[in-house]
Amino acid sequence: MKSVQVAIDGPSGAGKSTIAKELSKKLGFVYIDTGAMYRAVGLYVVNKGISIHDEAGVVAVLDDIDIDIYYKDELQHINLCGEDVTHLIRTPEISMAASKVSSYMKVREKLVDMQRKLGEKYSVIMDGRDIGTCVLPNANVKIYLTADVKVRAKRRFDELIEKGQDVTYEYVLSDMEKRDYDDSHREHSPLRRADDAIELDTADLTLEESIAAVRRIISERTGI
Ligand code: C5P
Repeated sequence: MKSVQVAIDGPSGAGKSTIAKELSKKLGFVYIDTGAMYRAVGLYVVNKGISIHDEAGVVAVLDDIDIDIYYKDELQHINLCGEDVTHLIRTPEISMAASKVSSYMKVREKLVDMQRKLGEKYSVIMDGRDIGTCVLPNANVKIYLTADVKVRAKRRFDELIEKGQDVTYEYVLSDMEKRDYDDSHREHSPLRRADDAIELDTADLTLEESIAAVRRIISERTGI
């Protein structure tokens, strides 16, 4: 059977990954978190002491960056040059590094190629910023998830506090506003809703309601 592709795009904190993870489990699809790949590149660059603003320096080490995605207990793990960095990529510093390196065309080419191959091999729910517009333009379902930035920042803040990170709400909010701006104003594959994507605002929805709404859209579009 041909693989089914569900593309979920939107700004950070709109609920993409939580919803995609949950529904992939329910549907038996593979969840692909493309942001984690950009984060892994960001982590590599920071660890090597290369400035994230030095495009030529980042591009020069791209071939050394070996990213491997695998699944354990139904969750995506990410290995960077043999080391499991699943948790190390979730800090505010690496969020900013990911956002910066993701603006470089060569970085995007490398990761988009990996993402397309995964999308051909498996039935997937793939989330990111450019899945419906660039990575999987023929996806069976395209959803654009959004919510007011203050609501998204509060969600991300609660998540980070639960993980024991030392951050303030104000920091998370300004970090998110900057990333929203950068992601939607960059030259290559900026964040935008694909013309044929269904937009869903999750600001006033509980997580359960958001999951049910996305589930309904998938069902209407695919009959699954
Ligand atoms: O989704 P997440 O917040 O983990 O993504 C980290 C960063 O990676 C985003 O701010 C964005 O700049 C970049 N990204 C991207 N394209 C994707 C996924 C993420 O440019 N498909």
